[in-house]
This record gives sequence, structure tokens and C-alpha cells, in this order.
Amino acid sequence: MNGPLAAEAAALDRADVLAAKRAEFVLDEDTVYLDGNSLGALPRDVPARLADVVAREWGELRIRSWGESGWWTAPERVGDRIAPLVGAGPDRIVVGDSTSVNVFKAVVAAVRIARQDDPGRDEVLVDEATFPTDGYIAESAARLTGTRLRAVPAAVLPSALGPRTAVALVNHVDYRTGELQDLPTLTALAHDAGARIVWDLCHSVGALPVGLDAHGVDFAVGCTYKYLNGGPGAPAFLYVHGDLQPRFDSPLPGWHSHADPFAMSSGYVPAEGAVRGRVGTPDILSMLALEAALTVWDDVDLAAVRRKSLALGDFFLRCVSTYVRAGRVSSVTPTERERRGSQISLRCAGPGTGAGTGEGVEAGELSAAEVMDALISRGIIGDFRHPDVLRFGFTPLYTSFLDAERAARALGEVVG
Ligand SMILES: *Cc1c(COP(=O)(O)O)cnc(C)c1O
Repeated sequence: MNGPLAAEAAALDRADVLAAKRAEFVLDEDTVYLDGNSLGALPRDVPARLADVVAREWGELRIRSWGESGWWTAPERVGDRIAPLVGAGPDRIVVGDSTSVNVFKAVVAAVRIARQDDPGRDEVLVDEATFPTDGYIAESAARLTGTRLRAVPAAVLPSALGPRTAVALVNHVDYRTGELQDLPTLTALAHDAGARIVWDLCHSVGALPVGLDAHGVDFAVGCTYKYLNGGPGAPAFLYVHGDLQPRFDSPLPGWHSHADPFAMSSGYVPAEGAVRGRVGTPDILSMLALEAALTVWDDVDLAAVRRKSLALGDFFLRCVSTYVRAGRVSSVTPTERERRGSQISLRCAGPGTGAGTGEGVEAGELSAAEVMDALISRGIIGDFRHPDVLRFGFTPLYTSFLDAERAARALGEVVG
């Protein structure tokens, strides 16, 4: 089985400056884990830290831990650890709640600011291929703020921005196709149109440099359980541009965002800075698991992460075109490097996909869902997205070139 591509993979792994990072994760050599874009692998140091949080901080110190163990300040402290990964300065990011909830906070707050500046702005633009939760929440946020939601293809966003746009909500990387949007250009275009922009970084944080401060992004949200490996249900983050922090009028002004929460006063006075994005009591166990998980980034150069991510994608596509019968799968991820996130999505035509029988597909062949099931049973863990997309996520901190080669080779065997 050791063909030229396997030899090339081994050479690429030997030259990989991030190769040593893999040992910082709990992985088994029998499995090729290409689903870190859904749930990142467990960093080795997390279990001991979490055990200490439970046994000592909760078990022994109990309520004293809010102060003595730094529980109270964790949302901003952990936010400051994420900040360098997205190009944000200190006190711009708060961690807590889910991405869905943070989309709500960001979109409502952004619409409020946009309409304060210009009450005629009555539209919220969203990429029509958005991750569904973003679209559902933006629709509700629009209704609550007296605006209307307009869904347009991402390619149309530049021309859709105009004097009626209050806010554009954009996914930095499309969860299904892995297409990367041009954040600097779209942000500048939104501002030229007098609009505010909210970026969803779920599939870019930890996969590529983002540059939120440098590009003047207004608001951003993101997941921490994908490329940041924070654990299932780890809390999400909210970024607010420094100039907008004093104007951030949260639609969920819980007591943890109050300037003096223990005054227990009936009147709401918002705190300054990132704290203003909090709602209620944070999920401390998940928050501190995330904090421990983030230590793997301490010595990581994001430019190296991006280089390896793109190299893995290129190599995987080359292996697929060698191992998989022509016409059986096709990449829906753009081939141009500057338009790619860190996953490769392959459309796999076949029965029951609604895509008809693609060229090179014969009757009785496996559907995309069946292909992914067969891969998973061989220890190649990617995922399937309706109706016919096979997703392979490349997590530069722990995915090897040999992983990419094994996955493509197994795919070729499964589709015959
Ligand atoms: C993963 C993902 C989410 C998940 O939202 P949750 O509230 O954590 O369930 C939201 N948006 C995008 C773009 C995602 O990729």
C-alpha cells in the first residue's frame, strides 16, 4: 500500500514545523480524525485541569472560588487568550453562552447602533447559505428591531449593501463548502455603505489569521469547540470593536454585565469594556476546560497554521484525484487558496441525493451518506452534510499529511 503519495506524505510530515503539536492531543493512531471542524480533539492537559477544578476549586473551596480561583473574571481572561488568535487587542472579547446567543446579541446591538446613526436603515443582510442558526436568529433579531431580513448569495453581498443596510451578518467560512469570504474587503464595503458588519468566525478561528482590529470589524462571534478544541458545548465568544464598546446596548443585559452586580440595584447600569457582553452566571466547568485547551496555542504561529492547512488541502485533493475514479466526487471547495478555509468538501453524486446520477456514477452505487458511513467504519472520521456533501476538516495542529493520504485512499476504495 505504500505508493508514491504515501512516501510523499511521510516526507511532508517530517518537514512539518507543527508536527510536534500532535502529541499534545489525545488521538489514536488507528483513527484518521478529520472532524475537528465539528468537535476538536481533546488536548492532553485538559483532564487533569478539569479534575482539579472539580475536586479542589469546587469541592474544597466552594464559593470562595469565585474570587480565589478567578472564576468571576474568567469570561474576559479567557477572551484575552482568544484575542491574539483573531487579531484583537485586550478587553475586546468576552467568552460565554453559545454562538447562537452571541449572534443574537451582536446583530441586535449592531442594528441598534446603525439605526441610531441613521433611522432609515431597515435591512439586515445575511448570506443565504449561512449556517442555519445564524439565519434563524437574524430573522428574529430583525423582527425585534423593526427591520427586515434579506438573504442573498454571498457573491451578491457587495452589491446588496446600500443605504438601507443596517447590518450584514456573514459567515467567514461556509460550513458546508469551506469557502472563505474576503473579510477585509467586505468589511470595508459595508463601512463604505454606512452599514455595520457582524462576522461569524466559527470555521476560521484557529484555522487561519483573522485580523479583527486591523480590518476594523464591528462585531464578531465564534465557536470554541471546533478548531479551538474547547470541548463539547464549550462557550462561544463575542468581539466588540473598541469604538463601539461604549455604544454596545445588549439585548440581554443580565446582571453579570452590570457595572456593579452585587449592588443588586433595580436599575441597569452597563459595565464598561468586554464585560458588557456577558449575560448571567457563566458555565465555569466548560469555561475552564476551554482555558486549559487554549494553552496549546501559546507557542503557535498562525501563519504556519494557515500554510499547513492549505498544504494539507492541496495534498488531499491531489490524493483524491489519484485514488478516486474520475467523476465520482467533485470538490465544492474553491481550489484557489485565498478562497479556502481549512476543510475540503466533496460532492458525492449518487442515489437518493436529489442530484441525479452524476457523470461516472452507476446504478447501485453508494450514496454520499453511505460513503461516509463506510469511511467511518474504517476509522476515517469526516462527516456528511445533506444532501450529498462529504466534509473533511484539516486541523493543522494535529492532522498529518499521512492522515490526508489515508483518507483519500480509503475514499477511493469505498467508492470502488
Ligand atoms: C458551528 C456553528 C454554529 C454553532 O452554533 P451553536 O450555538 O454553538 O450551536 C453557529 N454558526 C456557525 C457558522 C457554525 O459553524
